Amino acid sequence: MALTHNLGFPRIGSNRELKFALESYWKGQRSLDELYALGAELRRRHWQFHDGLDWIPVGDFSFYDQVLDMSFMLGNIPERAQGFGGAWLDNYFRVARGRSAPAATPEDAGITAGEMTKWFDTNYHYIVPEFSAATAFSLDASFLLAQVQEARAQGIRAKPVIIGPVTYLALGKAKDGSDRLALLPRLVPIYRQLLEALAEAGAEWVQIDEPILVTELDAEWRHAFNLAYHDLKSSRVKLLLGTYFGPLQDNLRLAAELPVAGLHLDGVQAREEALPLLGLMHATKVLSLGVVHGRNIWKTDLGAVLDWLEPIAERLGNRLWLAPSCSLLHVPVDLEREQALDGEVKSWLSFARQKLDELKILATALNQGRAAVSAELEANRIAIEQRRHSSRIHRSATQAALAGVTKQLGQRRHGYEIRAARQDEQLRLPLFPTTTIGSFPQTSEIRRVRRDFKAGELDMGAYRRAMQDEIARSIREQEALGLDVLVHGEAERNDMVEYFGEQLEGYAFSQQGWVQSYGSRCVKPPILLGDIHRPKAMTVDWIRYAQSLTERPVKGMLTGPVTMLNWSFVRDDQPRSVTCMQLALAIREEVLDLEKAGVRVIQIDEAALREGLPLRASEWQTYLDWAVASFRVAANGVADETQIHTHMCYSEFNDIMEAIAAMDADVITIETSRSDMELLQAFDRFKYPNSMGPGVYDIHSPNIPTTQRMVDLMRKAAERIPAERLWVNPDCGLKTRQWHEVIPALEHMVEAARILRDDRT
Ligand code: GLN
Ligand code: ZN
Repeated sequence: MALTHNLGFPRIGSNRELKFALESYWKGQRSLDELYALGAELRRRHWQFHDGLDWIPVGDFSFYDQVLDMSFMLGNIPERAQGFGGAWLDNYFRVARGRSAPAATPEDAGITAGEMTKWFDTNYHYIVPEFSAATAFSLDASFLLAQVQEARAQGIRAKPVIIGPVTYLALGKAKDGSDRLALLPRLVPIYRQLLEALAEAGAEWVQIDEPILVTELDAEWRHAFNLAYHDLKSSRVKLLLGTYFGPLQDNLRLAAELPVAGLHLDGVQAREEALPLLGLMHATKVLSLGVVHGRNIWKTDLGAVLDWLEPIAERLGNRLWLAPSCSLLHVPVDLEREQALDGEVKSWLSFARQKLDELKILATALNQGRAAVSAELEANRIAIEQRRHSSRIHRSATQAALAGVTKQLGQRRHGYEIRAARQDEQLRLPLFPTTTIGSFPQTSEIRRVRRDFKAGELDMGAYRRAMQDEIARSIREQEALGLDVLVHGEAERNDMVEYFGEQLEGYAFSQQGWVQSYGSRCVKPPILLGDIHRPKAMTVDWIRYAQSLTERPVKGMLTGPVTMLNWSFVRDDQPRSVTCMQLALAIREEVLDLEKAGVRVIQIDEAALREGLPLRASEWQTYLDWAVASFRVAANGVADETQIHTHMCYSEFNDIMEAIAAMDADVITIETSRSDMELLQAFDRFKYPNSMGPGVYDIHSPNIPTTQRMVDLMRKAAERIPAERLWVNPDCGLKTRQWHEVIPALEHMVEAARILRDDRT
């Protein structure tokens, strides 16, 4: 008998109830008790969805972040957050976001929020645990234990879920530069107490997640696994070690031999390791296979999975468990809520709830024979078959264009020096040219106009006039400020990926397909399902209008292929590299149309290039090769005179600098102001050959930087990059800021450029 379980469920609620409850609590419009009650209600509802599974995750619920939950459970709370008193949840929010609810204490002016970073290669962000040589741990498992009790009272077969000690240490940062691993002997006894408390609360199995096992580990970290798990093996609960997000590779033997009762393997991304693992594992251990994709929204091909699983199930009996490949945190909650999605497309999809149903069907087929679920299997087969052959997926013209891609296509006619000279002749820009990254403040008025237009309450003519007024305002402001290269302001864009996806064939959009990004923030990734085609120009009219209002050059503004890919749910029936090149071809057409319309500067944003990097550094180059090739095809079809910009909103690209240079954009703008230009140290090792605009205005903060601060930053930059190749610009787009902040900040920026120019004459 194969058993079923789940590793974790999205907690935001199918209507984002948790998001709205949190935000109203933070505004002081809801009480703490009401927030707790909503948490309990969501847990109850989500556990119900698991009805029919053998083990149900408990402790996957969180009011903000599961890693921060661990920090609180282990008593690892930053010193600056100690001694406030009040409810633990208020202190928890203080670490999560710098503040608790306004009502907590009047003298509470907030503290520095915990740093946030990406959870492995997903789009979820966790709060980084903070360590120092003096870090001490102490157990407070009350929140988890209360949830276990709550579940048991509802008759739920609870399997508590925690993050394992090695991954917990690996995810954190030692602020004093000390060795995190030195804390392991202090940490493991706390885990022993935790497991004992869970046993006391009636837990039989505990899922202990160690996803760090799918990354490259050095000898010390591997040794830490042996130390920790030998120490935990006497525990009264059975441990199911969770690994996911990829294959174990050189950690396979290590994982197989750890003294735990069971091991979960990512059966989607590491399917080929299931049999080798079985060969290495002790004959009493449970093998949990994650056979339903936990990070994508496509229906599982149940027949194909069964073909693979049946012989394994034969061999393992009740030692085989089935699960999603990872926690379902990374997919939307419930497909049933999609009312507007095209029926055919909907029949191809599966969100978190539907994935649990798939698991049950698989288990029934294994345990009672396929005949017991023949109708379900047949329906699944038909959906998979239809998707494979649908005309929505396959477009012969796109295939033909793809077959015609040559290296030549990604090659500018001349090298940077010649291009720069020709662009200079055209653009006649001063030294230290000033520009912005694309968007200007998105006022509530702009949002309302867009919403009304979408809802059909505003006709096309009125919508266009409203947007043109906004463009005119942006141009007026920029001319008054004296910026050199202007932008139209992106008022028509709700989101930099969705805006383009909606105009391309090959995309579909959900209405409720929200996924938690961090805390109360959710994103709704578009669904890239078929061959990409651009029926008509997407941005030309707006830019042409903007250009008609000014003598100064207006930058065309596009989202690059890699970012389109990395911020969508992507089809799984062809390599991502192929899909990316299709996007590149569509964007290339847009670039060429802009050029034809007389646009002399075109920016192609690649905000998400870095986050597509594989977890293992050994796989980076392959990714970077196709990512860069795609960008080059999108960007490099233009004449020498046309200036290509790209933008990236992160500063850590030291390790991928060569790849970024290989994109061969004429100008790259990047985020740097917060790091005091420290990132530019990378240029000691590698000379970036083209022009660069290191951001001097931190747009994530409401603070207005002084002229002097910006001058200082640019002088620092000029120590490493020749002044003739420097641009002056903010860190990123200004859409989240207000005009009354943007105007003085940009005045200072233009003034800073003037001072820098005077320096040189
Ligand atoms: N052009 C975009 C903007 O200015 C870039 C956004 C981003 O980098 N995330 O809004
Ligand atoms: Zn940015």
